[in-house]
Order: sequence, then structure tokens, then C-alpha cells
Amino acid sequence: VVAPRITKLTLTLRQKRQLYGIRRRAAPHEGVALLLGTYEHKRTCAKVIRISEMENVAQSSSTFAIDPEHHYVILTAAIKDNLEQVGIYHSHPAPPYPSGWDLEYMEYNPCVWIIDGIVGSRHQMRAYQLIDGEVYEVQIQTILE
Ligand SMILES: [Zn+2]
Repeated sequence: VVAPRITKLTLTLRQKRQLYGIRRRAAPHEGVALLLGTYEHKRTCAKVIRISEMENVAQSSSTFAIDPEHHYVILTAAIKDNLEQVGIYHSHPAPPYPSGWDLEYMEYNPCVWIIDGIVGSRHQMRAYQLIDGEVYEVQIQTILE
């Protein structure tokens, strides 16, 4: 099954700040969160409704891992509320581009991957989706509410 390509992901300013908090709390390790939400416009746009902060059980600054049981609990609760996992967020103490490990993991999780990294001395969030071995950049739209 080829996942539909997502061209845009919408976050509220508040959610963006929430993600920055997750990054700061996890530092120097990579911070991780699941993005639960809905798809719109024939599944070409993703809208984030809920953010679930996850523990980086890898305790690493170059990779991350989440507990599969915790993941399952979060997904079950999301489905109950008619939400889907539209994305995965993680932070990098490096530029916001998928690492080799990320690319491998993205193959099994064809949702939007937000990487919160550093360009020069500034934090920058970028989003990607891997479809059929091809990396596509996804536009992040920030809205007030
Ligand atoms: Zn990464």
C-alpha cells in the first residue's frame, strides 16, 4: 500500500511551543512526540489535534526509540477519539534532515516526520514524508488557533 502524499501539515502556535518544550526537556537527548490528528482535502493535508510527548527510551542524542506498549496505548486512545497518527516529531542537536536511521524507520511509518533541528545557531523545524523510497518535504503551516 502506497501512502498518500501529504503536502501540508497544520500546527497551532501553541502546539509549536509545546514541541519546543519537549525538545528542551529531552536535551541533550532527542525529544520525541506523536502527533495525532485528522487528514483533510482527500488526505493531502494533516491537521494536528493532540501531541503526546514520548520518552526517548534510547536515551540518545543521535537517535530515538519509543516503547511499543506506550505507543499502542496512545494509538488506542486516539482511535477512540477519531484521531489518527498523522506525524512523528523528534529533535536533533544537528540540522533538521533525516538521518540514515530516520530514513529506515520512515519506511515503516509513512506519516509526516517533523524534525526540529539546528541551522547555524537557530532552531528550525522541517517536515518530511518518505514514499516509495523518495523523500518529500512537507510544508508546515502554523496557525494562531
Ligand atoms: Zn533523526
